[in-house]
Amino acid sequence: MPSLNLMVHISSNDISEIVRHCVGETPNEACGLLIGSGDTIHFVRSARSQRPSPYEFTMEPKDILTIDQEAETKGLEIVGLYHSHTMTDAYPSQTDIAACPDDRWFHFLVSLKAKPYKVRAYRIVGSSVEVVAISASDGREGSFAPLWSL
Ligand SMILES: [Zn+2]
Repeated sequence: MPSLNLMVHISSNDISEIVRHCVGETPNEACGLLIGSGDTIHFVRSARSQRPSPYEFTMEPKDILTIDQEAETKGLEIVGLYHSHTMTDAYPSQTDIAACPDDRWFHFLVSLKAKPYKVRAYRIVGSSVEVVAISASDGREGSFAPLWSL
């Protein structure tokens, strides 16, 4: 049983922004950063991948720096990242686990394999993956054909 003790708070608008970015980058994986405080995400920023690929992402260091500076000027910090899987499930790959930069970060994964797109959150501590429950603050967009589901 996954532990549901961990929870992250984010607005559904921010989730939609993440998903739209991921859709826009297909067939390549998209990536970006989550800015906030503690377990609450205040806003999200897309980043470029150094070598755009359908199989992996390598976040552009210049983008990380710019986003980190923006977070700092707002009294916030980078609390996580997101990226997409265009053909597989919303679960961290072995590469994602090995490349995780910070075990306190929330790791959002968007699967574009099928509609509605799936959004899941994790924390990657060492080689173990913990499920994080997503609390979306203001409902979901589009009741008939939602872009994403949790
Ligand atoms: Zn991945």
